[in-house]
Amino acid sequence: MGMVMVRCPQTGRAIPTGIKIDRDSFRRRPVFYSRTHCPTCQIDHTWFAQDAWVHEAGRVERRAAEDSHMERV
Ligand SMILES: [Zn+2]
Repeated sequence: MGMVMVRCPQTGRAIPTGIKIDRDSFRRRPVFYSRTHCPTCQIDHTWFAQDAWVHEAGRVERRAAEDSHMERV
């Protein structure tokens, strides 16, 4: 199991969404979006599943999507 994480559009920080799921289940989910309260901005950010990733403790994960996020900044 891991925690679904999203990136804050204002600060670029990773925010835990509080949603716990294993990575395979997350991949199989249809496209969806949700809202998560950002502790840095003190507001809710809306995010799409394609922008989120599953963080599993003890693993460092890099995805192509994350890399492209960084290039756009
Ligand atoms: Zn934020």
